[in-house]
Amino acid sequence: MAEMGSELELRGVGVSSGVVIGPAFLLTPADVRIVERSLTPEEVPREIVRLEEALITTRGQLREIQRRVERALDRHSASIFDAHLLVVDDRAFIEEVIRGVQSRHINVEAVLHEVARRYADTLAQMDDEYLRERAADVRDVARRILMNLAGHPMSDLGSLTEPRVIVAPDLSPSDTATMSRERVLALITDLGSPTSHTAIMARAFEIPAVVGLRDASQRISNGDLVLVDGQAGRVIVRPSSATRERYKRIARARECVRDRLQTLRDLPARTRDGYEVVLSANIELPRDVDAALRHGARGIGLFRSEFLYLAQPTLPDEFEQAQAYEEVARRVAPAPVIIRTLDLGGDKFASSVQMPNEVNPYLGWRAIRFCLAQPELFRTQLRAILRASAARNVKIMYPMISNVEEVNQANALLERAKQELAADGVEFDPQIEVGIMIEVPSAALVASQLATRVRFFSIGTNDLIQYTLAVDRVNAQVTYLYEPTHPAILRLLRQTIEAARRAGIWTGVCGEMGGQAVLAPLLVGLGIDELSVSPAVIPLVKEVIRSMTYSECEALAARALELERGTEVLAACRALTEQRCPEIVEYLG
Ligand code: PEP
Ligand code: MG
Repeated sequence: MAEMGSELELRGVGVSSGVVIGPAFLLTPADVRIVERSLTPEEVPREIVRLEEALITTRGQLREIQRRVERALDRHSASIFDAHLLVVDDRAFIEEVIRGVQSRHINVEAVLHEVARRYADTLAQMDDEYLRERAADVRDVARRILMNLAGHPMSDLGSLTEPRVIVAPDLSPSDTATMSRERVLALITDLGSPTSHTAIMARAFEIPAVVGLRDASQRISNGDLVLVDGQAGRVIVRPSSATRERYKRIARARECVRDRLQTLRDLPARTRDGYEVVLSANIELPRDVDAALRHGARGIGLFRSEFLYLAQPTLPDEFEQAQAYEEVARRVAPAPVIIRTLDLGGDKFASSVQMPNEVNPYLGWRAIRFCLAQPELFRTQLRAILRASAARNVKIMYPMISNVEEVNQANALLERAKQELAADGVEFDPQIEVGIMIEVPSAALVASQLATRVRFFSIGTNDLIQYTLAVDRVNAQVTYLYEPTHPAILRLLRQTIEAARRAGIWTGVCGEMGGQAVLAPLLVGLGIDELSVSPAVIPLVKEVIRSMTYSECEALAARALELERGTEVLAACRALTEQRCPEIVEYLG
């Protein structure tokens, strides 16, 4: 390890570009180790005082969070913390902890942990759903009190008051869903991979991010000055003034390229010989529409609707959802917005939705599987999407389809939702286009059957690659095997596109592969109609497409399909892109 005070360079995987420098903020997991300790009789009163002090601190923190959530969201969302405050003020619970300390002469942490667990377990077994949900409140509050007893207040990204570089072992999508773009300068994590939802969120926020740094959170201290190069995947701790100057120059050069690309904003993504691709944006929350429009997106090709659920502690109801969808549809009109129905599970878990702990969540009760098993929850979302479709520019897309039956079932529920709304006299688009994500290999293999039931396909390469190559997309250990250009992936892409063409429907790509500018000629050559990418990479992808002819893209795809290795395919793509737009290849590093 480098000496204190000297420059230290760490290398990981750059997942969101940009260069920033700022003080580190260490976000540690909120787990506390409970050690039982005996007390002398004289120590008991002091222990009770410690408990009362921790309760006062906890109450203050909860009120502050509640105020923040109310300001950021609304009163209703903030009301979840009323239940947490009730736990802190529950005298029966507190008295039981005090009695335990007095009678057993052991430290308050050990007693509190035990009493809270008993309370939570009892509540979790109640018939009444409301009481069952209170179990999570008891656990959460107990953890917060324990952190305060240990003198490590629980930190969360929403509570930052100054701009900071966030350093963490790992971040969950719910951590990032509530972060503030103004105060989070960059994200750096020990774990993670380019297609984890944390990385996707960082790109949406245009916040530089480096993941897979292994032990960064142990080598960086709170307050250390950190320089992050999100493109090169480099983190420099305590950079010297020479390093800072060098990076200032790099940042300025990249800025110039970006400024020039910005002039393409209103131009189509059309090859030199006239083949036009629809270049649209992926968004997680309605506020991301700003970036999509700023970078010239032709509509929203993927609205990951589950982030509405992740960003708040309570379930968004039909009207809240409809409002969010309508806002996006109105702002991008007349261009379309494709709303993907709830894709919870995998690495996305919302506190408002109960899901079981699974050994293999990516292969488990995720996305459409979960929605079909929870028809009420799904119905609410379908009705909300239909409400937002009145202006005729909303499309609906089901995630993680693996067979025709799932499409039939989802469509049947959609039809029922339409009938209900029609009976209520609510206006909606009766011809709303329905599409599916092709992200499970079985779906790609039966694409011709699926194509007769829907109006479009959008290939989710993030999952398609993970399921085809058996590579967990969030496991940094196997990132080296995660290869978008693997011959197996190219074959599945080609097969899907051909099946769609035969059925007369269109195909898009909305996985991160589409945002890799050097791969754009390959996807165009394979016959893709639409590419939906993170807003910030739209200008790069557009520049590459505009510098090619369709026939050279086709030739590239034909050659790529004959190669045996993903590395060879990638090299061929890079070579062509470098020939046509060297500046972009240099920019990408
Ligand atoms: C995908 O799998 O490629 C995709 C776009 O969906 P998500 O990344 O949200 O799983
Ligand atoms: Mg997916």
